[in-house]
Order: sequence, then structure tokens, then C-alpha cells
Amino acid sequence: MVVAIDGPAGAGKSSVAQAVAAALGFTYLDTGAMYRCVALASLRRGRPAAELTPALEISLGERVLMDGEDVTEAIRTPEVSQRASQVAALPAVRSAMVERQRSLLRSGDWVAEGRDIGTVVAPDAELKIFLIADPAERARRRALELGCDAASVLAEQAARDDRDRSRAQSPLRPAPDAIEIDSTGLALEDVVARIVALAPGR
Ligand code: C5P
Repeated sequence: MVVAIDGPAGAGKSSVAQAVAAALGFTYLDTGAMYRCVALASLRRGRPAAELTPALEISLGERVLMDGEDVTEAIRTPEVSQRASQVAALPAVRSAMVERQRSLLRSGDWVAEGRDIGTVVAPDAELKIFLIADPAERARRRALELGCDAASVLAEQAARDDRDRSRAQSPLRPAPDAIEIDSTGLALEDVVARIVALAPGR
């Protein structure tokens, strides 16, 4: 079974998806981390992302490994976030990543998080959630986590969301059969409980 959780930056997808996976005993797949690895490799090596992608080894789990190096923290900088949403608009990068994601999802039970899981990667997912939150609230939460100011986080998120929504291939949008959950003002446990409660009937 696949539970797809899509939505804009900072809507709380990662915390929610990890907690849902733990509650259901499913494996968690962070597809954003894959685009972040491509972005980091391209920034560091100064080479076009599409060229690097085919040979790039990415391993996801407790830690994120790129060509064997632990890049768990390195892929979370604001610079990598912005570059990730740029490389994610490149058709060659997207097709390669989507192929890898589909091959992982082929066996076992998963909670997969991203922007296009319900629309492109796993259109047959048994449960699709589109998680949203008020942008100012999202920025406030993320700024607290990162220890920086909310205005710059808001601007960074808006730039990424605009790019993710307006790209030609696999733009960020809810699947027609996705259930929208607005997490503004909700506790993490409440969002998780709602999703977990939806799972058995699928
Ligand atoms: O989810 P996260 O913020 O880590 O993703 C980083 C970037 O990767 C996003 O802004 C988006 O551009 C891209 N992405 C994507 N499709 C996915 C997951 C992430 O385009 N399934």
C-alpha cells in the first residue's frame, strides 16, 4: 500500500509523513531529499544537474547518503533548497528520479512525501493527502525550527512554491482524488491521527 502526502514547502509534510509511517509500520520515503542531493552535487561540482543525475547514488534512510557520503545536514541549507526546486524543474532530472521512486514503491508498504506523488509517481496510491497550511504560519513554524527570521523564510518558501507550481512537468497540485488537510492551528498528533484513521478503509 502507498500513502501519498503532497503539498507546498513547510506545510509539515516531513513530520506528518514520518509519524504516519511509524504508526502504520510503513517505510517512509522523502522524495524531496533526492532532488536535494542532485542540487548539492550540482552546486559542489559546478556541473549541470541533468549530466550528474544518471550516475548519482542516493540512499535514503535514517541518514541520507550521496555517493556514500553522509549529506543529511548538508542538503538542508537554504541554498540547496532553492537549487533543489530549480533542478526539480528539469525534465531529465524528474524522469530519472520518478523512475527510482517508482521502483522503490513497487514492493512493500510506503508513506511517500513530495509534490507529485499522488499525481505522477504513484497515481494509484490507495490514500492521497494534500497537506496545506497558512503560509505565514508555515514560515513562523519553520523559522522557529531553524532559528532565523520568519520574513526571509516566507520569501524563500514563496519562491519555491511558485517555481514548483508553475513548472511544465509535474507541477505541484493536488490529485483529483486527494484529501486536502489544512494543518494551520492543528497539532501534529491531530493531523497524523486523521490520516491514520483514513488508511484502513483503503
Ligand atoms: O520536500 P522538500 O522541500 O525537501 O523538496 C525540495 C524541493 O524538491 C522542492 O521545493 C521541489 O522543488 C522538489 N521536489 C519535487 N518533487 C518532489 C519532491 C520535491 O519537485 N516529489
